[in-house]
Amino acid sequence: MRIGYGEDIHRIVKKGRPLIICATPISEDIQIDAHSDGDCALHALCDALLGAIGEKDIGYFFKTSDSKWEGAPSSLMVEEVRKMVDEKGYKISNVDISIMLEKPHLSPFREKMVDKIANLLIIDKSQISIKFGTNEKMDAVGQGLAIRSVSVVLLEEK
Ligand SMILES: [Zn+2]
Repeated sequence: MRIGYGEDIHRIVKKGRPLIICATPISEDIQIDAHSDGDCALHALCDALLGAIGEKDIGYFFKTSDSKWEGAPSSLMVEEVRKMVDEKGYKISNVDISIMLEKPHLSPFREKMVDKIANLLIIDKSQISIKFGTNEKMDAVGQGLAIRSVSVVLLEEK
């Protein structure tokens, strides 16, 4: 078995890209600073998967200098990373994702997010946990200046 951990943070800005989390559009009113679509949760998930297979970080494989990824859906990154996991001879045991955002409340979107992750990783919904929290008004996340996500995955040999 192999475990992987990933985390990501994006700034919330006045003019950026509309907030998307776990390939689910959340709000046009909240915009974030990003080269790709800025899906914070998917970036943390990619890094966790890459970590579990002993690979380099997401920025190494999907460079911000590459115009191919400008505004690109991060789901494409997850699909590529999933293939890497597969090629290394591992399958996903479970995925645990936490998302910290002051507002809006994300729980109404949970089911859709789980569906999206299940489809992207080709795993069962029972293998996925997505949890939400605020930062109790502290630091950048708590002041509504950023969104942060952390992710842990467990892989097992096929
Ligand atoms: Zn990111």
